[in-house]
Amino acid sequence: MKRLLKWLQECWRGYTEGRYGLDGLSAMYLCISAALIACVLNMEPGNLRILTGLGAVILGAYGLYRCFSKDTQKQQQQLHTFEKELEEIDYKISLRTGVWKIKRSYRYVRCKNCGHRFRVPRTQKKQTITCPNCEKKISRRT
Ligand SMILES: [Zn+2]
Repeated sequence: MKRLLKWLQECWRGYTEGRYGLDGLSAMYLCISAALIACVLNMEPGNLRILTGLGAVILGAYGLYRCFSKDTQKQQQQLHTFEKELEEIDYKISLRTGVWKIKRSYRYVRCKNCGHRFRVPRTQKKQTITCPNCEKKISRRT
């Protein structure tokens, strides 16, 4: 039994030598594939189930292909592109959260006289604000 295990280990080592291996992108493909397979198991029979199952198999096969590919340069390039896209999405999300931080600390007030909309800091107190457009005084809670 020990010799068999050792033989299997050496076979595996010989096969995986020079291969790309597992990275974040392959792991993502494999995880999505596993999640889709879990969905397929809970679906009612039909065309959607077949399509989802097909998608799961294709994604899983592609994830495994990336792991065992010998073209490491191409796989690294794909990973680099994927990480760049993720950074861009992360940057866009951080911009959105920045806008929300501003919205939390300021309140937008519309002047009833001229309709001009302007920003005042939130204070939770009633205060008198002057419209920067028509200079009419507005008294309200900000
Ligand atoms: Zn005004």
